[in-house]
Amino acid sequence: MIKDNLEKIKSRIDSVDHSQQVTLIAVSKTRSVLEIQSAVDAGQYNFGENYLQEALDKIEALKNNTLVWHFIGPIQSNKTAKIAENFDWVHSVDRIKVAKRLNEQRPPDFSKLNVLIQVNIDNEPTKSGILLNEVTEFVRQCDDFENIRLRGFMCIPNPQNSSNSFSLMAKILSEFSSLDTLSMGMSGDMELAIENGATLVRIGTDIFGKRSYV
Ligand SMILES: *Cc1c(COP(=O)(O)O)cnc(C)c1O
Repeated sequence: MIKDNLEKIKSRIDSVDHSQQVTLIAVSKTRSVLEIQSAVDAGQYNFGENYLQEALDKIEALKNNTLVWHFIGPIQSNKTAKIAENFDWVHSVDRIKVAKRLNEQRPPDFSKLNVLIQVNIDNEPTKSGILLNEVTEFVRQCDDFENIRLRGFMCIPNPQNSSNSFSLMAKILSEFSSLDTLSMGMSGDMELAIENGATLVRIGTDIFGKRSYV
């Protein structure tokens, strides 16, 4: 079933008119190692996790596969070392202190940690992310960090306004020639995000089924 779902998602991606390369991240929070393994067997290599301890257990259990792990959940600053040591990408950086710690804690003999800034694109009080008017300064401050590579932005727009918000996020990305990545689009709004320039889509439910919690 996971294999069929992955195929369906890929044909949904192909059916959207787009010129950028789009990478599918399977969001595997709350999913078992066995479920992830069946996605791997179907050719899926990029996985997104929200909770550190749960993720570390799975990364360890699946270490014989060459997988790409994305941290997409809220980051407490006392968790940054393990994130810096175990992930390839971090999508949810929204404090400069966290970027600084990830930079200090990324082992220098690893490839640079790929980092995205989470942007609260619709300025919603309940959502994480920096505000639009903070983006330029945040990007500038990341220039100093040698062990991380700032790649772009992640956002979770208000569903009422997602088309506008996705296109605004893409416009902001285009203002920074050093950045190339937009992580946007989940099961419910993937096509719209791709139409508007998403390069990473984060899909959980439509691959693994409905989650019983969170
Ligand atoms: C859970 C989660 C997803 C996946 O959401 P679905 O609706 O299940 O596709 C994507 N991004 C983030 C940040 C998430 O927490």
